[in-house]
Amino acid sequence: MRAPRAEAVVDLSAVAGNVRAIGDAVGAAEVMAVVKADGYGHGLVPSARAALAGGATWLGTAFPEEALALRAAGVTARVLTWLPTPGEDWDPVLAADVDVSVGAPGLLAEVEAAAVRTGRPARVHLEADTGLSRGGATPTTWPALVDAALRAQARGTVRLVGLWSHLACADEPEHPANAEQQARFADMLATAQAMGADPEVRHLAGSAGALHLPGTRYDLVRAGIATYGLAPAPAVAGPAALGLVPAMTLVAHLSLVKRVAAGKGVSYGHTETTARETTLGVVPLGYGDGVPRHASSTGPVLVAGERRRVVGRVCMDQVIVDLGADAVTAGEPAVLFGPGRHGEPTAQDWADAAGTISYEVVTRIGARVPRTYERAPW
Ligand SMILES: *Cc1c(COP(=O)(O)O)cnc(C)c1O
Repeated sequence: MRAPRAEAVVDLSAVAGNVRAIGDAVGAAEVMAVVKADGYGHGLVPSARAALAGGATWLGTAFPEEALALRAAGVTARVLTWLPTPGEDWDPVLAADVDVSVGAPGLLAEVEAAAVRTGRPARVHLEADTGLSRGGATPTTWPALVDAALRAQARGTVRLVGLWSHLACADEPEHPANAEQQARFADMLATAQAMGADPEVRHLAGSAGALHLPGTRYDLVRAGIATYGLAPAPAVAGPAALGLVPAMTLVAHLSLVKRVAAGKGVSYGHTETTARETTLGVVPLGYGDGVPRHASSTGPVLVAGERRRVVGRVCMDQVIVDLGADAVTAGEPAVLFGPGRHGEPTAQDWADAAGTISYEVVTRIGARVPRTYERAPW
């Protein structure tokens, strides 16, 4: 069988093991594996199944259609979706027994109308804006939202399942915003509870909070990046220190290897010139596959046991690496990133090279790159 041009190999036992490690770290709190954006590029359904095998009891998605895709694949675990748009088609979401986040009264009214139509109470998590200024009700509008939800609950159309919020600066555990958001969350919970709310779960932490800020764990942590084995706060701790193993390996096969004379401009714009006669290898992956163009001249690639770097600009479909004097032939594997155990770079290395975060590196690996799954824990 012909080797694929390129593939993203996903180690599903690593995903399961990462969820187990998160579960061990957070003690009594449950783990929601966040599988939005196609499981951070690792594949929605395989990632979800592996996370459940690792002990996750919840799954989290941004958009309702992501939650419905889980249900369509036969995933029956609790799923929360937190980024609906007004006018959303709620009936199938409620019919699929998906929990929905609500952060504004207008949305609550839509969800309640769907609950009436479908004849089943909507499972609702109210979102508090404790300082991210993104989703959720501010401390000013929170009491009215809680009141509306409690009234709906009294009518039997809504079950107030969760109260939640999200941190802005958890990747900097010492940042003063963390303590401020924790205090505001505690206040907003107290307000809701004083009004009569008795939620099953209160949740505040993503991966960084779960692993670095114990006071944010509450009943449930929403772990995204750590599920995939990448560090949520790389300046604080790398994956190994957290018991995590990066799950994705991005590998291509050199499409061409050739000798090039000294003084030759390489790739678009001739931003680099060969300093001496050298061997160049062409890697058939580019920004059209999610290789960040900002990693031009910096992105690391393992070829034939040595770390190389991208020479010149990242193109849409290819990058060029300098192989020096090494005897390398076309077809040789070129590993852009992996767990880092065999000398290969990591997604974090690419994030550093491109001035971004590992989240963006793995999530943007495009649909043109097939995902291959190995070591399924079932
Ligand atoms: C994406 C997201 C998460 C997961 O964040 P990580 O840092 O990847 O763990 C958790 N909660 C919300 C609301 C999110 O949007």
